This record gives sequence, structure tokens and C-alpha cells, in this order.
Amino acid sequence: MFPEALTSGYRTFLDERLPGEVRRYAKLAEGQSPEILLIGCCDSRVSPEVIFDTGPGELFVVRNVANIVPPYEEGGEYHGTSAAIEFAVQSLEVKHIVVLGHATCGGIKAYASQAKPLSSGNFIGKWVSLVGPAAEKADTQSGPDYLTRLEYAMVAQSLENLMTFGFVKERVEAGKLKLHGAHFGIARGELLIRDPQTGVFGPAVDQQGGAVRPTSLINCTDS
Ligand SMILES: [Zn+2]
Repeated sequence: MFPEALTSGYRTFLDERLPGEVRRYAKLAEGQSPEILLIGCCDSRVSPEVIFDTGPGELFVVRNVANIVPPYEEGGEYHGTSAAIEFAVQSLEVKHIVVLGHATCGGIKAYASQAKPLSSGNFIGKWVSLVGPAAEKADTQSGPDYLTRLEYAMVAQSLENLMTFGFVKERVEAGKLKLHGAHFGIARGELLIRDPQTGVFGPAVDQQGGAVRPTSLINCTDS
């Protein structure tokens, strides 16, 4: 049986959301033109459309374990993430690519703890071996705990790897495409944005500016 949680959610979508967006969906049926490619983690707690309150057609999203962009590589392998990047940049001509890391990332932890393979295929082990170059950088940084530093470093590494794609580099250098890094804190809904000059992650919104987090989340005591 199809999961009840999904049929129930779909009913809510039909009753509450779709009526207000009928025209939007009808227009989107003709084609999509999102301006942002978001590369995030599979983690169920870090849904980009929820965090950024986006509607259909706004974000082109690729999610994988630990929000990893592999370095450009030609060959006979099946490069799902690279295919999504290729389509977003070359066909959709997105103007921004956002790499979104997050707190308590299981993929990052799996690399750091050298977790045992979950199957004989060891797909996670092979995939998160791409965290290696980021780990070298996280080792030398000061700041928060090691796993958080590694999460930050992986965002930076993914941004660096994006530039190994010739078509990305070309558009960035032509000023047609911008790359961004961010990190979602989960417990308090805190979003940090990476300063491209310094590499430091800082709050996405000016706390004095008022446009901040919901009170219920701010009052949340877990961390
Ligand atoms: Zn994750």
C-alpha cells in the first residue's frame, strides 16, 4: 500500500495549495526556467523548498549524500550529480549555484568515522571518499567542532570542484553564473552563508534587520 502519510499530504496539496496555484502549474507545464541550482544533501531534515520557502519552478535541486560535487571526470561511470549540473548550467542557464551543507550530516560523519560498509557494494564509502580533500583543510582550521568544520570544508570543496567543470568556470568568469555556499543548522533553523572572500560562514540574515527565524524555533533549547 502506498504510504498513507503521502496520500494524506497529497490530499492537503489538492485541497489547500493547488487551488491557489492553478495558473502557475499550468504555465510551468509549458516548461521550467529556474534561476537557481541547489545542491544539497539527501537528509530528510534539510529540504531546500521548505528552508527557502520556494514554490514550484523556482529551484532546480540535486540532492546526494553529503552534498558532494565530484570533480569533473569523463568516462563510462554514471555521473548523476554531474548530469544535473550539466543540464542546469548548459540548458537551463541558471544564474546561481548554491551548495547547501548542514549540521550533523551522516555522510560527513560516515567519512570521518570510517564507517563500515552497509552492503558489499560499499556505495557510501566510495562516494564519501570524495570528502578526503575537504578533510585535509578541515584539519588545519580552527573554530567549531571537527565535524562542523568538515561540513563547512565540504561545501567549500564542492564549490572548488564545480570550477573543474569547464562550462561552469567559463560562465563564472563571464559573470553569468555565481557560486554560493551555505550551511543549515537544523536545531534552530539557522542558515549560515559562506563569505567567498574569507571562506567564513556567517548568519544569512541580519539579526537587527528583523527578518529572522520563527520565535518557536529561536526558543528551541536543543542544539
Ligand atoms: Zn547530510
